[in-house]
Parts: sequence; structure tokens; C-alpha cells
Amino acid sequence: TVHLRQVSKHYGRTAALTDIDLHVEPGQFLVLLGPSGSGKSTLIRTLAGVEHLDRGRLHLGGTLMDDGRRRLPPERRDLAMVFQDYALWPHLTAAGNVDYALRRRKLTAAEAGRRRAEALDRVGLAHLAGRYPHELSGGEQQRVALARAVVGNPRLLLFDEPLSNLDADLRERLRVEIATLTRQSGATAVYITHDQSEAFALADVIGVLDKGKLVQLGPPEAIYHDPATPFVARFTGLSG
Ligand code: ATP
Ligand code: MG
Repeated sequence: TVHLRQVSKHYGRTAALTDIDLHVEPGQFLVLLGPSGSGKSTLIRTLAGVEHLDRGRLHLGGTLMDDGRRRLPPERRDLAMVFQDYALWPHLTAAGNVDYALRRRKLTAAEAGRRRAEALDRVGLAHLAGRYPHELSGGEQQRVALARAVVGNPRLLLFDEPLSNLDADLRERLRVEIATLTRQSGATAVYITHDQSEAFALADVIGVLDKGKLVQLGPPEAIYHDPATPFVARFTGLSG
């Protein structure tokens, strides 16, 4: 589970998040929608532990992660993140990038190698394991990032606009791969996008943010047919 209670976060005088209450069941796929500057990345970075709460409480899997005073560092939160710009290590091959995610596990070399091969195979990149990021296309780099995210089998997967740098065709294929990989892993997912059709295709639950507030949280049908505010109606209208 992901559980936030009355979470607030400021940058100086900017209120990036205000009184966020959010609950996501294990294995659910939550998509966050909202205009630029509405706090989507801040929320996901707070879950990851690279930003800290001012107020409120954050629990993951029933364990307190951050209450504004004490917090667990990112590497102890059992999660992985996929970014818009892939964020691969340029000096490591595809295999090396995936291995990096296993560095803290006490695995034998054989077991680590087996897991890495399986992860690269699942994203269709077994044949490119020895390539460096600059020798890979954008779509291939994002597949490496996906393999790196799932190889350690984290309970939470975080995605910050992972497809926005890719062309429409590739976006659709990778969207399907992300959905499949996430379901297979059983992880809970929090996924940010600007793309309404992507949101409706992926989500079990959609959260709509506006100016740092969670204005609606519910299944796609409810968001679409029964928007809580005119803002939600305008923002999630597939035609608009
Ligand atoms: P986008 O869709 O453009 O990525 P977003 O919904 O992810 O937007 P955030 O990046 O969470 O928005 O930003 C929320 C607010 O916090 C914005 O007003 C932004 O300017 C501000 N902000 C974000 N990061 C910082 C920072 N490190 N320092 C100061 N202000 C920040
Ligand atoms: Mg953002």
C-alpha cells in the first residue's frame, strides 16, 4: 500500500503539495494527471524519498517512511523509479545499468547474472546487453531503464512521464510493455503522464492534481463520467 495522510510540501513560499490524502492498494496502478506545476513530480519524489514532507505522514507497505521529522532514505524504501530522460549511467553498458540496481542485494554472481538476463529478456534487449546508452535508441534506453526498475522486484514502481520523449508508435508499444511488466511483478505503480488517453489506458485509479491539491481520486470511469469539479471535467475530457 501507499498511504499519505495530510501531506504538505513547500519550496520556500511555493506550496507544491497541500493536505494530500491518498491511499493505493497493493498491486494497483495509480495514474497522476494534472497541469504543469500541479505537484505531480513533487508527489512522486516524496514517495521516492528524495524530497521530504513538511507535514503529514507517508507509509509504504504499512511502514512509516516520513512524518516530517524522521524518514527512511530512498534506498531503504524498496522502490524503483523510471524517468522521462531515462537517467542511465553513461559509463555502464545496458547489462551494467541493470546490475547496478542489484548492487545492494547479497546475490551470488550467478544469481545476479540470471536475474539481469531475465530482466533484459523481458524487455526484448537480450541481444543489446553489451551496448552503452549512447549506442542505443531512445526507446531502447527506456527499455533498459525498465529492466533496471523491475530486476530487483520492488514493491513500488514510480514513473515520471516515462514515454514523453518517444514518438507515438513507440509510446503505445512501451505503454503496453509497462502495463504487462508491472502486472507481472505484482508491484504497486504510481505513474505520471500529461496524456489523457495513456492515463485511461493504464489506470486502475486516477488522481487529478490541481495547484498542489488532489481534487479527485477514483476509477477512470468515475473521473470521466462523474468529475468532481469543472476543472476535472475540462482537464480529463478526452476531446479537450
Ligand atoms: P510538470 O508537469 O511541468 O512536470 P509537475 O506537476 O510535475 O509539473 P512539480 O515539478 O511537482 O510539478 O512542481 C510543483 C511546484 O513546485 C511548481 O510550482 C514548481 O515550480 C515548484 N518546484 C518544484 N521543484 C522545485 C524546487 N526544487 N525548488 C523550488 N520550487 C520547486
Ligand atoms: Mg513533473
